[in-house]
Amino acid sequence: MSGDPDATRRALEAYYRRHARDLPWRRGAPSPYAIWISEIMLQQTQVATVTERFTAFLERFPTVETLAAAGEDAVCEAWAGLGYYRRARNLHRAAVCIVEQHDGRFPNDMKGLRELPGIGEYTAGAIASIAFSEQVPAVDGNAERVICRLLGLAGPPGAKRDRAVKDFASALARSRAPGVVNQALMDVSAAFCLPRSPRCEACPVEASCAARAAGNAESLPVKAEKRDRKRLQVAIAYVTGTDGRVLAEQRPTDGLWAGQWQLPQNEGSGAKAKLEKRLGVRLAIARNGREPIAVRHLLTHREVVAKVYTSAQAPERLPSRSRWRESDDTTGMSALARKALVAVTAAKSS
Ligand code: SF4
Repeated sequence: MSGDPDATRRALEAYYRRHARDLPWRRGAPSPYAIWISEIMLQQTQVATVTERFTAFLERFPTVETLAAAGEDAVCEAWAGLGYYRRARNLHRAAVCIVEQHDGRFPNDMKGLRELPGIGEYTAGAIASIAFSEQVPAVDGNAERVICRLLGLAGPPGAKRDRAVKDFASALARSRAPGVVNQALMDVSAAFCLPRSPRCEACPVEASCAARAAGNAESLPVKAEKRDRKRLQVAIAYVTGTDGRVLAEQRPTDGLWAGQWQLPQNEGSGAKAKLEKRLGVRLAIARNGREPIAVRHLLTHREVVAKVYTSAQAPERLPSRSRWRESDDTTGMSALARKALVAVTAAKSS
């Protein structure tokens, strides 16, 4: 019967016990620390990439104490390849908080977990249910998709739909092993309940799925209307020193590209003039071309259109939070800066 949480829960538990994905952070009896690291990594990074990076990160920082004792830069360095470095900085802040305020022990419920930096409702629910068997849901976009289909929710996104999804997820989590149910939901979303072309015929919860019965799975959940991204003009400076190194600067800890490294850049109208004034150098078009190198980059809500200029004139005074770096060192660099570096290298060799 569709919408029956008991039948769905039983099916999810049975599926997980036989077919759970073999992932490094699920092996053995993972500690709350390992579960926490995996959940933060999984927030905005694909499972395959996290699988590659997880073990090395744990080897470098095997305990919350080692993570707290490390410098923020070392944590960001170990985070390379995972993107969204704000997570690495929050991870470090949370580790310090756990060591200094909780004697190195994890808060063992959702409420306590939510007070740590970088842990929102979904992540707190995932950690609390998996590590501490608290009967709480963990609903991210993937679980939401599965539940909207299970319940046949055809309404637009909004508070009403959110409430229905959360109520159902909470009912599913009323299990002796809520972590198993929540992880099974994640596995079903990844293996069967795909955004396009869901594999309903093989899905372990198809018997209790309303969308399967109605034959409209692919059209659910109804998406919000798309808004056009705002365009952001950016001027970027590729400034080389006498030793061939390149000037890089670190963003403030808030706002766009928070805390990431970039080539010096300014945004908005008159960006090039502002950048020249800030650095105290004249910026030129690479290899005396007719147009600056153009780099396009999409952020969630913005389309970045960047023009990359060059200068072999070093600033008399380096801007704050800047330093010279090897031109092929992209550690902690924003994706936009990495694209700019690639574009300049290609222009040089053309
Ligand atoms: Fe998703 Fe189809 Fe499974 Fe329903 S039966 S949960 S729509 S894959």
